[in-house]
Amino acid sequence: MNRKLICIVCPKGCEISVEYNEATKEIIKMTGQACRRGEEYARAECISPTRMLTTTVRIKGGGLLPVRTDKPVPRGLMFECMKAINRAEAPRDAKVGDVIIPNILGTGSDIIATANA
Ligand code: SF4
Repeated sequence: MNRKLICIVCPKGCEISVEYNEATKEIIKMTGQACRRGEEYARAECISPTRMLTTTVRIKGGGLLPVRTDKPVPRGLMFECMKAINRAEAPRDAKVGDVIIPNILGTGSDIIATANA
């Protein structure tokens, strides 16, 4: 499989071309990256893409609390993460930085409040 990516690690925005085997998750050829960080970014995007998740969770008694993951989660789990967040409730006294859902779906990422309730 071939992909062209714009590296978002720094403002230079290198265009990276990657040829990889989807089944074996092996990189066959990579060109265009100007540094090691770009190589790691392109490898992760092709082999195991992750994303930060930003959304809201219900507050007990009413209202919505903005939350986000504290680390990126696998892109393939985003829908299941949203379902878990939709089932959760934040306490009325939640403060910015509080963990609302620890280790969501065993990903190692916590869902944390980004504002006070
Ligand atoms: S490959 Fe390196 S230099 Fe190019 S955009 Fe990515 S981080 Fe920046």
